[in-house]
Amino acid sequence: MGCCDAPGLMPIEEALNKMLTPITPIIDTITLPLAEALGYVLAKDIRSPINVPPFNNSAMDGYAIRLSDFEQSTTMKMVGKSFAGAPFEGEWPAQTTIRIMTGAQIPSGCDAVIMQENTTTDGDLITFDQPNIKTNMNIRPTGDDIRANDVVLNKGARLTARDIPMIATLGISHISVYRKPKVAFFSTGDELKPLGSELEPGQIYDSNRYGIKPLIENFGCEAIDLGIIPDCQETLKTTFENAQQMADVVITSGGVSVGEADYTKDILEELGQIGFWKLAIKPGKPFAFGELDTAWFCGLPGNPVSAVLTMYVLVQPLLAKLGGNSEWKAPESIPAITRSAFKKAPGRTDYQRGIYRIENGQFVVETTGNQSSGAFRSMSLANCFVVLERERGSVEVGETVQIQLFNPTLF
Ligand code: AMP
Ligand code: MG
Repeated sequence: MGCCDAPGLMPIEEALNKMLTPITPIIDTITLPLAEALGYVLAKDIRSPINVPPFNNSAMDGYAIRLSDFEQSTTMKMVGKSFAGAPFEGEWPAQTTIRIMTGAQIPSGCDAVIMQENTTTDGDLITFDQPNIKTNMNIRPTGDDIRANDVVLNKGARLTARDIPMIATLGISHISVYRKPKVAFFSTGDELKPLGSELEPGQIYDSNRYGIKPLIENFGCEAIDLGIIPDCQETLKTTFENAQQMADVVITSGGVSVGEADYTKDILEELGQIGFWKLAIKPGKPFAFGELDTAWFCGLPGNPVSAVLTMYVLVQPLLAKLGGNSEWKAPESIPAITRSAFKKAPGRTDYQRGIYRIENGQFVVETTGNQSSGAFRSMSLANCFVVLERERGSVEVGETVQIQLFNPTLF
């Protein structure tokens, strides 16, 4: 059975296309001190104003020599020192050597640095015991890492903990980035109680806001928590109106499944143009997307696994595009051999929660167990999604499946 045999279900690719096409990236920029720029998206290429390293320097603690001297004698008098930050500045007489430390500037005329382990010292006489001396040995030349004018990062890159120190080596103290998209979010449902309160019969704790907020932030956006909103037309409407005033995107959880959808639909129809979709994705079939007056809207299903999964698969690329993160890439799929069976019916792409490990260089994966869309422990236990294709049925032990590894700093 193919996807077309599951009537009315929209394939994920089509949903993503419908969501991403109308989005134009935010163009407002701000200038930030480098140390505060982690997770922001570059609004301009970073071009190096200098060579890195800015001068030839030593890769070792040792002695600077000239090959012409070395050919005469392998014992030389030490006549000066070049330390990091305190270069040798005097005349360098023939048949002598200069003590040099790691990172120190190479004296003019020097052909190589001999590491101190390959020398013996007798007072200020140094004897070299270094076979095969090569020109430029142990010298890190100017611009070896980065050349002046090189573009080291492109506009649209999201800054990582690895990028920030690299920019620092260039001496750039402030950078131009896009402002982060503002994302207002709230949970809907009469059954939801805040943490710290007692549950009455029929009530559950609102966990979705605790799943949605970190993802908004990890996806590079500013999260605005509007709390729990009961299933009440008026309160919902006021909340939507407030939310769109303060945010670029409004995200809700709950209230988009059959039965509840009509209800939210009435309000949203007044406020904008929203599509209520049934997606060929499991979990996460009910999903809403559209435009309010002044903000985008994503309506996530209420089931906790579904809410987080649709954030990951559908909302993440949307926020990346809105935030100008043009270098964002969808998670890669890796083939893995199953070590447990996975139950599945054809018709929807199924993101089951799995635990992978590597055995003899081969990825293997097993299920986390209970795959109910309400069973959040499956997410907490997992270290990957097992992405089972739309047309696929149940999977037996030993079959190959595609997995997407979690990045623990993201998810
Ligand atoms: P709904 O999409 O509103 O029909 O909700 C589907 C399921 O998810 C129901 O079992 C809800 O109780 C549950 N649910 C909805 N919102 C939340 C939430 N914020 N936290 C935990 N569970 C929720
Ligand atoms: Mg509900």
